Amino acid sequence: MHTPQTLSPNPLCPAIMPVAKRPDIVFSHGEGSWLIDQNNQRYLDFVQGWAVNTLGHGHPAIVEAIRQQAGLLINPSPAFYNQPMLDLAAQLTASCDLDQVFFANSGAEANEGAIKLARKWGSLHKQGAWKIITFEHGFHGRTLTTMSASGKTGWDALFAPKTPGFTKVPYNNIDAVAAAIDTETVAIMLEPIQGEAGVIPATTAFLQQLRALADEHQLLLILDEVQTGMGRTGKLFCHQHAGVVPDIMTLGKGIGGGVPLSALLCRKSVSCFAPGDQGGTYNGNPLMCAVGLAVLNKLQTPGFLQQVETTGQYLRQQLQQLSARFQLGEVRGHGLLLALNTGTINAAELAENARIQGLLINAPRPDCLRFMPALNVSHDEIDQMLTILETLLGY
Ligand SMILES: *Cc1c(COP(=O)(O)O)cnc(C)c1O
Repeated sequence: MHTPQTLSPNPLCPAIMPVAKRPDIVFSHGEGSWLIDQNNQRYLDFVQGWAVNTLGHGHPAIVEAIRQQAGLLINPSPAFYNQPMLDLAAQLTASCDLDQVFFANSGAEANEGAIKLARKWGSLHKQGAWKIITFEHGFHGRTLTTMSASGKTGWDALFAPKTPGFTKVPYNNIDAVAAAIDTETVAIMLEPIQGEAGVIPATTAFLQQLRALADEHQLLLILDEVQTGMGRTGKLFCHQHAGVVPDIMTLGKGIGGGVPLSALLCRKSVSCFAPGDQGGTYNGNPLMCAVGLAVLNKLQTPGFLQQVETTGQYLRQQLQQLSARFQLGEVRGHGLLLALNTGTINAAELAENARIQGLLINAPRPDCLRFMPALNVSHDEIDQMLTILETLLGY
């Protein structure tokens, strides 16, 4: 049940809408896996802007891309091509099995575009089918329609009436998906690992069965890779682990390395927007696309993704040992998107105490810590993080 709750404005910043509980810290700069506040206190950052800062804070390749592109051209308007947009589109589509891309500014906006594209495709190719099957505890963003698509507990009652047409079923349950299909269904939309739900991976079998089911019923398979894409799980895209190719994929978070950039990709046969259907003032602007290129180039440096896989295995092993030592729960996830079940220990309190000890870590659920460090985090930084956790758990 959603319990209504309002925050009163923080006396330090009465001009900021209190949409989140924030500690009284003002950050001034960052270096790699470290954030530094105005009092020069250093924090080890295992949140990284919510799995956004792919290369950590202040990476020279990103700083240089922004500096150079800002001096050349920031926005010629979306009515014209620009070179970074063309280059990023070519390089992204060459890196996956999808053919075309629309750039946007946030994960929610890319997902909103995916939903529009599926409905348009249904109107053209499937007798007006428009409903989309989505999943309990799924998260797709905070626009009204992406909230409607999400299955977050308590959200169904918020901002009514919702956008209709989203049938929610249990995750990893192929029979429930099959049973939810009707003649008006046009697509199935999911995260290959449910991030906000507490890092719950779809099984390989489930993803493969969804692909088969979609083919059988002529449905589009939409993968929201906003959190899992761009190397986060050790492959460029998470679906590559399962060998399942979606019809539509969305990217966000890590693609911009910290700046607002997202992408909606699809197969050529699905690409059916007509001029005027889709757009946006900032979409595909060269400043953000130049950063996206810098990030993608780094991810495609030989050995980089292998390193993510190796570092992820190290973090997983260490978390498993920690769990065994303090009788916590399972370790879930892939690559550098991992979660540790904290059992009876309150994860939110643990995260708060960690911050006081100089470690930033996220608790997406009351019994779960999520680890989403920079993809170039070092073993030494992982060890430092674990030392802080051990100290806290030891009490
Ligand atoms: C964060 C996230 C979104 C929303 O992205 P925004 O950039 O915050 O709009 C959508 N889907 C998934 C899976 C996410 O993790």
